[in-house]
Amino acid sequence: MSESITREINRSHMQVSDEIAIDIRNMNKWFGTFHVLRDIDLTVHKGERIVIAGPSGSGKSTLIRCINRLEEHQSGQIVVDGIELTGDIKNIDKVRSEVGMVFQHFNLFPHLTVLENCTLAPIWVRKVPKRQAEETAMHFLEKVKIPEQASKYPGQLSGGQQQRVAIARSLCMQPRIMLFDEPTSALDPEMIKEVLDTMIQLAEEGMTMLCVTHEMGFAQAVANRVIFMDQGQIVEQNTPTEFFNNPKSERTKLFLSQIL
Ligand code: ADP
Ligand code: MG
Repeated sequence: MSESITREINRSHMQVSDEIAIDIRNMNKWFGTFHVLRDIDLTVHKGERIVIAGPSGSGKSTLIRCINRLEEHQSGQIVVDGIELTGDIKNIDKVRSEVGMVFQHFNLFPHLTVLENCTLAPIWVRKVPKRQAEETAMHFLEKVKIPEQASKYPGQLSGGQQQRVAIARSLCMQPRIMLFDEPTSALDPEMIKEVLDTMIQLAEEGMTMLCVTHEMGFAQAVANRVIFMDQGQIVEQNTPTEFFNNPKSERTKLFLSQIL
Protein backbone atom coordinates (compact mmCIF):
# COMPACT_ATOMS: atom_id res chain seq x y z
CA MET A 1 0.00 0.00 0.00
CA SER A 2 1.22 3.46 -0.87
CA GLU A 3 2.75 5.51 1.91
CA SER A 4 2.34 8.67 -0.11
CA ILE A 5 -0.80 9.99 1.58
CA THR A 6 0.29 11.41 4.87
CA ARG A 7 -2.23 14.09 5.65
CA GLU A 8 -5.88 14.39 6.60
CA ILE A 9 -8.17 15.13 3.67
CA ASN A 10 -10.49 18.13 4.01
CA ARG A 11 -13.82 16.82 2.75
CA SER A 12 -15.94 19.95 3.21
CA HIS A 13 -16.09 20.73 -0.55
CA MET A 14 -16.03 17.14 -1.72
CA GLN A 15 -19.79 16.59 -1.97
CA VAL A 16 -21.09 14.77 -5.00
CA SER A 17 -23.83 16.57 -6.92
CA ASP A 18 -26.98 15.04 -8.46
CA GLU A 19 -25.92 16.58 -11.76
CA ILE A 20 -24.30 14.29 -14.26
CA ALA A 21 -20.85 15.18 -15.60
CA ILE A 22 -20.23 12.16 -17.83
CA ASP A 23 -22.74 9.61 -19.07
CA ILE A 24 -21.51 6.63 -21.03
CA ARG A 25 -24.09 4.14 -22.30
CA ASN A 26 -23.40 0.80 -23.87
CA MET A 27 -20.25 2.11 -25.50
CA ASN A 28 -18.03 -0.07 -27.66
CA LYS A 29 -14.77 0.60 -29.37
CA TRP A 30 -12.64 -1.38 -31.75
CA PHE A 31 -9.10 -0.88 -33.00
CA GLY A 32 -9.53 -2.51 -36.40
CA THR A 33 -10.92 -5.93 -35.53
CA PHE A 34 -9.73 -5.77 -31.90
CA HIS A 35 -12.68 -5.12 -29.57
CA VAL A 36 -10.93 -2.90 -27.01
CA LEU A 37 -13.91 -1.55 -25.01
CA ARG A 38 -16.99 -3.68 -24.45
CA ASP A 39 -20.43 -2.45 -23.41
CA ILE A 40 -19.15 0.30 -21.14
CA ASP A 41 -21.80 1.89 -18.91
CA LEU A 42 -20.53 4.60 -16.62
CA THR A 43 -22.25 7.60 -15.05
CA VAL A 44 -20.08 10.15 -13.27
CA HIS A 45 -21.70 12.88 -11.17
CA LYS A 46 -20.24 16.34 -10.71
CA GLY A 47 -17.74 16.32 -7.87
CA GLU A 48 -17.09 12.59 -8.09
CA ARG A 49 -13.54 11.31 -7.86
CA ILE A 50 -13.14 8.04 -9.65
CA VAL A 51 -10.08 5.84 -9.73
CA ILE A 52 -9.79 3.43 -12.64
CA ALA A 53 -7.64 0.40 -11.92
CA GLY A 54 -6.86 -2.75 -13.85
CA PRO A 55 -4.09 -4.69 -15.50
CA SER A 56 -2.01 -3.29 -18.32
CA GLY A 57 -3.84 -3.50 -21.64
CA SER A 58 -7.32 -3.63 -20.06
CA GLY A 59 -8.46 -0.46 -21.86
CA LYS A 60 -8.11 2.17 -19.11
CA SER A 61 -6.28 4.72 -21.26
CA THR A 62 -8.55 4.11 -24.22
CA LEU A 63 -11.62 4.67 -22.05
CA ILE A 64 -10.48 8.01 -20.71
CA ARG A 65 -9.18 9.06 -24.14
CA CYS A 66 -12.69 8.43 -25.52
CA ILE A 67 -14.06 10.92 -22.96
CA ASN A 68 -12.29 13.84 -24.63
CA ARG A 69 -12.38 12.17 -28.01
CA LEU A 70 -8.70 11.60 -28.43
CA GLU A 71 -10.17 8.26 -29.47
CA GLU A 72 -13.44 7.71 -31.28
CA HIS A 73 -16.01 5.13 -30.15
CA GLN A 74 -17.99 3.13 -32.68
CA SER A 75 -21.25 2.40 -30.89
CA GLY A 76 -23.22 3.57 -27.88
CA GLN A 77 -23.23 7.05 -26.41
CA ILE A 78 -20.83 9.33 -24.56
CA VAL A 79 -22.28 12.55 -23.16
CA VAL A 80 -19.90 14.96 -21.41
CA ASP A 81 -21.41 17.91 -19.56
CA GLY A 82 -24.52 17.61 -21.69
CA ILE A 83 -22.63 17.42 -25.00
CA GLU A 84 -22.88 14.22 -26.96
CA LEU A 85 -19.60 13.17 -28.55
CA THR A 86 -20.17 12.60 -32.22
CA GLY A 87 -18.10 13.50 -35.28
CA ASP A 88 -19.21 17.14 -34.92
CA ILE A 89 -16.03 19.19 -34.58
CA LYS A 90 -17.80 22.01 -32.69
CA ASN A 91 -18.79 19.60 -29.96
CA ILE A 92 -15.28 18.17 -29.83
CA ASP A 93 -13.75 21.64 -29.37
CA LYS A 94 -16.27 22.46 -26.65
CA VAL A 95 -15.63 19.21 -24.80
CA ARG A 96 -11.85 19.54 -25.06
CA SER A 97 -12.08 22.98 -23.46
CA GLU A 98 -14.10 21.59 -20.56
CA VAL A 99 -12.07 18.46 -19.99
CA GLY A 100 -8.44 18.73 -18.90
CA MET A 101 -6.10 15.81 -19.37
CA VAL A 102 -2.81 14.96 -17.70
CA PHE A 103 -0.67 12.18 -19.14
CA GLN A 104 2.03 9.92 -17.79
CA HIS A 105 4.68 11.68 -19.86
CA PHE A 106 3.79 15.32 -19.10
CA ASN A 107 3.72 16.28 -22.83
CA LEU A 108 5.01 19.81 -22.19
CA PHE A 109 6.43 21.80 -25.10
CA PRO A 110 10.21 21.66 -24.50
CA HIS A 111 10.99 24.85 -26.43
CA LEU A 112 8.52 26.97 -24.43
CA THR A 113 8.97 28.23 -20.89
CA VAL A 114 6.74 27.00 -18.09
CA LEU A 115 4.72 30.22 -18.32
CA GLU A 116 4.42 29.93 -22.11
CA ASN A 117 3.30 26.31 -21.80
CA CYS A 118 0.52 27.52 -19.51
CA THR A 119 -0.59 30.49 -21.62
CA LEU A 120 -0.40 28.97 -25.11
CA ALA A 121 -3.85 27.38 -25.27
CA PRO A 122 -5.70 30.15 -23.38
CA ILE A 123 -4.24 32.75 -25.77
CA TRP A 124 -4.64 30.83 -29.04
CA VAL A 125 -7.70 28.68 -28.36
CA ARG A 126 -9.63 30.76 -25.85
CA LYS A 127 -8.44 34.15 -27.23
CA VAL A 128 -7.63 35.37 -23.73
CA PRO A 129 -5.48 38.57 -23.76
CA LYS A 130 -1.81 37.74 -23.04
CA ARG A 131 -1.55 39.71 -19.80
CA GLN A 132 -4.66 38.06 -18.39
CA ALA A 133 -3.50 34.59 -19.51
CA GLU A 134 -0.21 35.19 -17.68
CA GLU A 135 -1.99 36.26 -14.51
CA THR A 136 -4.14 33.13 -14.60
CA ALA A 137 -1.07 30.99 -15.29
CA MET A 138 0.78 32.47 -12.31
CA HIS A 139 -2.27 31.83 -10.14
CA PHE A 140 -2.24 28.13 -11.04
CA LEU A 141 1.56 27.84 -10.84
CA GLU A 142 1.24 29.17 -7.29
CA LYS A 143 -1.45 26.62 -6.62
CA VAL A 144 0.84 23.78 -7.70
CA LYS A 145 3.62 25.45 -5.68
CA ILE A 146 6.14 26.29 -8.41
CA PRO A 147 5.62 29.96 -9.32
CA GLU A 148 9.39 30.50 -9.09
CA GLN A 149 9.90 28.15 -12.07
CA ALA A 150 7.78 30.21 -14.48
CA SER A 151 10.58 31.39 -16.73
CA LYS A 152 12.43 28.05 -16.88
CA TYR A 153 12.17 25.45 -19.62
CA PRO A 154 10.66 22.02 -18.88
CA GLY A 155 14.06 20.34 -19.31
CA GLN A 156 15.39 22.36 -16.35
CA LEU A 157 12.73 20.95 -13.99
CA SER A 158 12.42 17.65 -12.13
CA GLY A 159 9.81 15.13 -13.25
CA GLY A 160 7.52 16.00 -10.36
CA GLN A 161 7.79 19.70 -11.14
CA GLN A 162 7.08 19.05 -14.83
CA GLN A 163 3.98 17.07 -13.97
CA ARG A 164 2.77 19.89 -11.72
CA VAL A 165 3.28 22.30 -14.63
CA ALA A 166 1.20 19.94 -16.77
CA ILE A 167 -1.57 20.05 -14.16
CA ALA A 168 -1.35 23.86 -13.93
CA ARG A 169 -1.44 24.08 -17.73
CA SER A 170 -4.67 22.07 -17.80
CA LEU A 171 -6.21 24.18 -15.05
CA CYS A 172 -5.49 27.37 -17.03
CA MET A 173 -8.24 26.29 -19.45
CA GLN A 174 -10.65 26.29 -16.47
CA PRO A 175 -11.82 22.72 -17.06
CA ARG A 176 -14.88 21.29 -15.33
CA ILE A 177 -13.56 17.75 -15.43
CA MET A 178 -9.98 16.48 -15.09
CA LEU A 179 -8.73 13.19 -16.52
CA PHE A 180 -5.45 11.74 -15.29
CA ASP A 181 -3.72 8.84 -17.02
CA GLU A 182 -1.11 7.36 -14.68
CA PRO A 183 0.22 10.80 -13.76
CA THR A 184 2.80 9.44 -11.31
CA SER A 185 3.93 6.30 -13.14
CA ALA A 186 6.93 7.93 -14.79
CA LEU A 187 8.13 9.60 -11.59
CA ASP A 188 10.77 8.64 -9.08
CA PRO A 189 9.21 7.65 -5.74
CA GLU A 190 10.22 10.85 -3.95
CA MET A 191 8.31 12.92 -6.52
CA ILE A 192 5.10 10.95 -6.46
CA LYS A 193 3.90 12.59 -3.25
CA GLU A 194 4.14 16.15 -4.57
CA VAL A 195 1.99 15.26 -7.58
CA LEU A 196 -0.53 13.32 -5.48
CA ASP A 197 -0.70 16.29 -3.08
CA THR A 198 -1.65 18.52 -6.01
CA MET A 199 -4.32 16.05 -7.08
CA ILE A 200 -5.66 15.81 -3.53
CA GLN A 201 -5.88 19.59 -3.38
CA LEU A 202 -7.97 19.57 -6.58
CA ALA A 203 -10.23 16.91 -5.12
CA GLU A 204 -10.66 18.97 -1.96
CA GLU A 205 -11.83 21.88 -4.10
CA GLY A 206 -14.57 19.74 -5.61
CA MET A 207 -13.13 18.96 -9.05
CA THR A 208 -14.72 16.07 -10.94
CA MET A 209 -11.83 13.68 -11.53
CA LEU A 210 -11.19 10.39 -13.30
CA CYS A 211 -7.79 9.02 -12.46
CA VAL A 212 -6.12 5.97 -13.90
CA THR A 213 -3.56 5.19 -11.25
CA HIS A 214 -1.84 2.38 -9.40
CA GLU A 215 -1.61 4.56 -6.29
CA MET A 216 -4.04 2.65 -4.15
CA GLY A 217 -3.31 4.91 -1.15
CA PHE A 218 -4.62 7.80 -3.22
CA ALA A 219 -7.66 5.72 -4.21
CA GLN A 220 -8.45 4.92 -0.59
CA ALA A 221 -7.96 8.47 0.59
CA VAL A 222 -9.71 10.40 -2.16
CA ALA A 223 -11.86 8.28 -4.49
CA ASN A 224 -15.52 7.80 -3.86
CA ARG A 225 -15.56 4.99 -6.38
CA VAL A 226 -12.98 2.56 -7.72
CA ILE A 227 -13.63 1.02 -11.11
CA PHE A 228 -11.86 -2.15 -12.04
CA MET A 229 -11.36 -2.95 -15.71
CA ASP A 230 -10.19 -6.13 -17.35
CA GLN A 231 -10.16 -7.08 -21.03
CA GLY A 232 -12.09 -4.00 -22.11
CA GLN A 233 -14.89 -4.36 -19.57
CA ILE A 234 -15.83 -2.77 -16.30
CA VAL A 235 -15.71 -5.87 -14.14
CA GLU A 236 -16.49 -4.34 -10.79
CA GLN A 237 -17.01 -0.96 -9.16
CA ASN A 238 -17.37 -0.06 -5.53
CA THR A 239 -16.37 2.32 -2.77
CA PRO A 240 -12.64 2.04 -1.99
CA THR A 241 -13.33 0.37 1.35
CA GLU A 242 -15.50 -2.34 -0.22
CA PHE A 243 -13.28 -2.66 -3.27
CA PHE A 244 -10.14 -3.31 -1.25
CA ASN A 245 -11.62 -5.25 1.66
CA ASN A 246 -14.35 -7.19 -0.05
CA PRO A 247 -13.59 -7.62 -3.78
CA LYS A 248 -16.32 -9.57 -5.56
CA SER A 249 -14.82 -11.04 -8.71
CA GLU A 250 -11.94 -13.47 -8.97
CA ARG A 251 -10.22 -11.14 -11.45
CA THR A 252 -10.32 -8.30 -8.94
CA LYS A 253 -8.99 -10.53 -6.18
CA LEU A 254 -6.14 -11.68 -8.38
CA PHE A 255 -5.30 -8.09 -9.37
CA LEU A 256 -5.33 -6.91 -5.75
CA SER A 257 -3.16 -9.81 -4.65
CA GLN A 258 -0.57 -8.71 -7.21
CA ILE A 259 -0.46 -5.03 -6.34
CA LEU A 260 -1.09 -4.78 -2.59
P1 ADP B 1 -4.33 0.27 -20.49
O1 ADP B 1 -4.30 1.76 -20.43
O2 ADP B 1 -5.33 -0.36 -19.56
O3 ADP B 1 -2.97 -0.34 -20.31
P2 ADP B 1 -4.93 0.68 -23.29
O4 ADP B 1 -6.23 1.37 -23.31
O5 ADP B 1 -3.71 1.50 -23.52
O6 ADP B 1 -4.82 -0.17 -21.94
O7 ADP B 1 -4.92 -0.46 -24.36
C1 ADP B 1 -5.92 -1.46 -24.43
C2 ADP B 1 -5.59 -2.40 -25.58
O8 ADP B 1 -5.72 -1.71 -26.80
C3 ADP B 1 -4.18 -2.96 -25.54
O9 ADP B 1 -4.22 -4.29 -25.99
C4 ADP B 1 -3.44 -2.08 -26.54
O10 ADP B 1 -2.38 -2.79 -27.12
C5 ADP B 1 -4.51 -1.78 -27.54
N1 ADP B 1 -4.32 -0.47 -28.18
C6 ADP B 1 -4.17 0.72 -27.55
N2 ADP B 1 -4.07 1.73 -28.45
C7 ADP B 1 -4.14 1.15 -29.67
C8 ADP B 1 -4.09 1.66 -31.02
N3 ADP B 1 -3.96 2.96 -31.27
N4 ADP B 1 -4.20 0.76 -32.02
C9 ADP B 1 -4.35 -0.56 -31.79
N5 ADP B 1 -4.42 -1.10 -30.55
C10 ADP B 1 -4.31 -0.26 -29.50
MG1 MG C 1 -2.75 3.06 -20.04
